[in-house]
Amino acid sequence: MIRLEQVSKVYKTSTRPALENVSVEVDKGEFVFLIGASGSGKSTFLRLLLREEVPTKGRVYVANFDVARMARRRVPRLRQSIGCVFQDFRLLHNKTVAENVAFALEVIGKPRHTIRKVVPEVLELVGLEGKAERMPNELSGGEQQRVAIARAFVNRPLMLLADEPTGNLDPDTSQDIMLLLERINRTGTTVLMATHDHSIVDSMRRRVVELDLGRVVRDDARGVYGVGR
Ligand code: ADP
Ligand code: ADP
Repeated sequence: MIRLEQVSKVYKTSTRPALENVSVEVDKGEFVFLIGASGSGKSTFLRLLLREEVPTKGRVYVANFDVARMARRRVPRLRQSIGCVFQDFRLLHNKTVAENVAFALEVIGKPRHTIRKVVPEVLELVGLEGKAERMPNELSGGEQQRVAIARAFVNRPLMLLADEPTGNLDPDTSQDIMLLLERINRTGTTVLMATHDHSIVDSMRRRVVELDLGRVVRDDARGVYGVGR
């Protein structure tokens, strides 16, 4: 599903590489934590998968896309196969919950009858049945993140990228969000989550890929956040 082959990324304005000789393979259906201190390269890693950046060296493959070398006109297709969730939710504040989710389908040209059918289904999946007509600012942080996850997932992407999705949430709410991401993972969706959250990584015991100054320093099948290395 994801393959980075000896990927290095050096930003123009920077002297040290943001990523250096990174090789990582993620199979379809895996759940992977990407951890590391601030500045270790996690966001760069995610941006390379979305073709928001191109590598200085090496190859990036996502599903059947040769991401670094594909034609620019095909990039929207790549991005349609990847759902994204962020720390700050990024909802549209002038639209209701249902409209936020529907919008993700409208922009890719889904017909109205499909949208009317699938939006309530995905809101139920994320536990927001009954909140369809609320505005985002009427919801708790955890609920707003559920809307963001519904929006990311409604198009049934092959993969979900989550960048610190629990970063603004209290521990109990964070655990609820992790249960939801696990549920999405069980549908066969590959989940890659960048996080600083020790307790979540330790409680999930999933694969952990750790970056340090742009290098992969650890790749454990059932990892913990890992103090005392
Ligand atoms: P993380 O997500 O783990 O905090 P980043 O991928 O954001 O790490 O950053 C890795 C390194 O690349 C850092 O040294 C950061 O300052 C640098 N960096 C990130 N984005 C840019 C950019 N657009 N231009 C220049 N340097 C950048
Ligand atoms: P939490 O305790 O999970 O942080 P809140 O106390 O913020 O959540 O909200 C509890 C419930 O009240 C939620 O279901 C939310 O949708 C609803 N709610 C919160 N603020 C408003 C509001 N301004 N208008 C309508 N409903 C709200």
